[in-house]
Amino acid sequence: MDFENWYRRNPDFPHRYIPPTTLEKFLQKNLSDYNRVIGTSYAGKNIRMLTLGSGPVRVIAWSQMHGNESNATHALLDLWESLQYRPDLRDQLFSEITLDFILMLNPDGSEVWNRRNAQDIDLNRDFLKLESKELPILKEAVRTGNYHYGLNLHEQRTIFTTDGVHPATFSFLSPSVSPERELTETRKKGMAVIARIYEKLNLYIPHQTGRYTDEFYPASTGDNFSRMGLPVILYEGGHFPEDYERKHTRKYYTLALYEGLKAMAQLRGSTSGFGGYFEIPENQETHYDFIYRNVKLNTGFDCVLDVAVQYKEELLPGNEEITFTPVVVAAGDVGDKKGWKEMDCTGKKFICDSEFPKLDHVVNFRIE
Ligand SMILES: [Zn+2]
Repeated sequence: MDFENWYRRNPDFPHRYIPPTTLEKFLQKNLSDYNRVIGTSYAGKNIRMLTLGSGPVRVIAWSQMHGNESNATHALLDLWESLQYRPDLRDQLFSEITLDFILMLNPDGSEVWNRRNAQDIDLNRDFLKLESKELPILKEAVRTGNYHYGLNLHEQRTIFTTDGVHPATFSFLSPSVSPERELTETRKKGMAVIARIYEKLNLYIPHQTGRYTDEFYPASTGDNFSRMGLPVILYEGGHFPEDYERKHTRKYYTLALYEGLKAMAQLRGSTSGFGGYFEIPENQETHYDFIYRNVKLNTGFDCVLDVAVQYKEELLPGNEEITFTPVVVAAGDVGDKKGWKEMDCTGKKFICDSEFPKLDHVVNFRIE
């Protein structure tokens, strides 16, 4: 378990929330020789590309296209920090790879912990219409960069597991190029890389890596780059037990990034071993954050049901870290869904101003 020994968390970024100004200052202070401004956001913030290495295999990656998905930005910062202690690994990797990494493609959304940009556009659905200021910057970078691979770096919600029990701490996808989802050479190149990452992650977090649905999304970034012949690997960092701040996910995201780059350096566009991709279990949507079981409501008749809760992530004014606010997302029979935590309320009291919990409202009851 060598990685556990050389991993270092970047001390300048202790929180899940990354203020764009902190990132900007860090890049200017520590990596000014390696980064440049490639455009600005709707609100005028700089969007920077970091270039590491000078190897023949050219890779483009982008993080925080969705502002509330910071773990991929952490992964790059942590990888850089960690490799300071392993110059042998760093020099080897970056003699084989040239990595162009756009940190925080959506700085306006990132500043307020929002998925969308300042115009409320989902950048991952803006490939065809190009209504945002930010997505054309990525498209232009890909058009002119002559890349062999692209890394589309995201995070997913806590609702996914790989098998109904283990959280999908990671899910990967080599995206489809059409509704028929045919297996093209481009897709196979991405699958071969993913198969290798999967093998490595399994050594550290077995049963916690899944495969994302390959349904074709006509307006999404990965599907369209893939259609243009660029093998794109979608990373989705996800839940780790008891770790809503995603510090463990962050660590293994760093490993997944490193192993992905290594695999690309070795494969160099080969599709060798792509079949391993199909051994990865498919994501299942099985969990809520919390389920109150057998809640006896204050109704005039006998009514006992389950109440499911998801945490809403919010950046409250003046805070350095995000807050998790419990919201009621289902009540009644929650089927065979499970909670990451559950409370059996049999024989307990439901204390609430209303007779029953309201859907999509913040939890306003106590159980005693
Ligand atoms: Zn995303």
